[in-house]
Amino acid sequence: MASQRHVTVGGVQIGGGAPVAVQTMTKTETANLAATMAQIRTVADAGADLVRVAVPRDKDVEALKTIVEESPIPVIADIHFNHTLALKSIDAGAHCIRLNPGNIGGPEKVAEVADKARAAGTPMRIGVNSGSLPKHLHTLERENPVEALVTAGVEFVQLMERLEFTDFKVSIKSTNVPYTIAANRLLSERIPYPLHLGITEAGTRWSGSLKSAVGLGTLLADGIGDTIRISLSTFHAEEEVKVAWEILKALKLRERGPVLIACPTCGRLQFDMDTVVADIEERLRAYEDPVEVAVLGCAVNGIGEASHADFGITGAKNEGLIFARGKALKKVPQERLVDELFLEIDKYAKTKRIEADAAEQQAGAEWLQRIEDENAGELTPERLAKLEAEKARADADAMDDVLRLDESSSPTAGRRFMRA
Ligand code: SF4
Repeated sequence: MASQRHVTVGGVQIGGGAPVAVQTMTKTETANLAATMAQIRTVADAGADLVRVAVPRDKDVEALKTIVEESPIPVIADIHFNHTLALKSIDAGAHCIRLNPGNIGGPEKVAEVADKARAAGTPMRIGVNSGSLPKHLHTLERENPVEALVTAGVEFVQLMERLEFTDFKVSIKSTNVPYTIAANRLLSERIPYPLHLGITEAGTRWSGSLKSAVGLGTLLADGIGDTIRISLSTFHAEEEVKVAWEILKALKLRERGPVLIACPTCGRLQFDMDTVVADIEERLRAYEDPVEVAVLGCAVNGIGEASHADFGITGAKNEGLIFARGKALKKVPQERLVDELFLEIDKYAKTKRIEADAAEQQAGAEWLQRIEDENAGELTPERLAKLEAEKARADADAMDDVLRLDESSSPTAGRRFMRA
């Protein structure tokens, strides 16, 4: 369920049912203006809605003024330990201040920041990580780490409410995926404020992406979470943005750019799928339309489960086929397959229409039919999956029949069966 309240960070609404916002954090020294701005432009191009920059020193605040002016997306100042940097960041025009009320030097200092933020109309993100819970929660943390995280989050929310500052979103993060899921589920029931989701120090591109997909994906699928940041150990912040988008696209929460689907390959593979898929994925990055592109390693199954794709390719030994929305488009030499695919995608990007030549379509359809016929007896992964699905459906129908029979011959017995 979407959060009841929302904040607006430099024009981007977070919470209250707005699309889940993608954010990342620059990895550069903020005071290095050229490097920081270059990274901000890169992450904005990759689809970041918001960007956060670390502000640990006065020279970072100085740079922040220019960054806020020049950034194509709203900028969040990340503050720890020093509340004067938060005050100065508000003056510098930061679109949002992130701080942990537990490490900023006491409630009075939080109050000072809240007063200034209220006067400037600057929202805040308040939050706590599993590694920095307040001392009075350490015993609870040992007994029940999830409850400790949620309690810390709720206590900070109550502090802000006492300070009459409610323009904030909340994050409670852990390096532990199950704790993060459980804690955010509980927190979303206890507070109406928007939630920022992330897994702390998730790890490398590979493991961090998976952990984030599991943790954040589970919460997002439940409708929990209003903005996400994927934390990866890479200097390339745009990788975090790409992973965030893949999670949102997989859950159909947002659309951005093409979607690539590819068969898992098997012993029937007819071309160097690894290279071809990587090439297609890279080339698709240049497109904005949410076209779905399928890559099938062989034509044994026909177009099959990729028939819903806007475009696709499949190959045999020397020739391949380009198809579009379930129909053959044209047959091309194997080595031209990817280039010809992109010619079709380019045409579509310009005209928003799939153009087909009837004779080429006919030749392609005949080629496909011939390969399907020649391999009609092959038990491919797709055909096995289809057989399994048919078997499961038949079993379910048979069970329905048993239940109906039971119900009609003996209503009491039927009810007993149903209750059991
Ligand atoms: S049979 Fe299916 S999984 Fe195997 S290569 Fe062909 S399309 Fe891919």
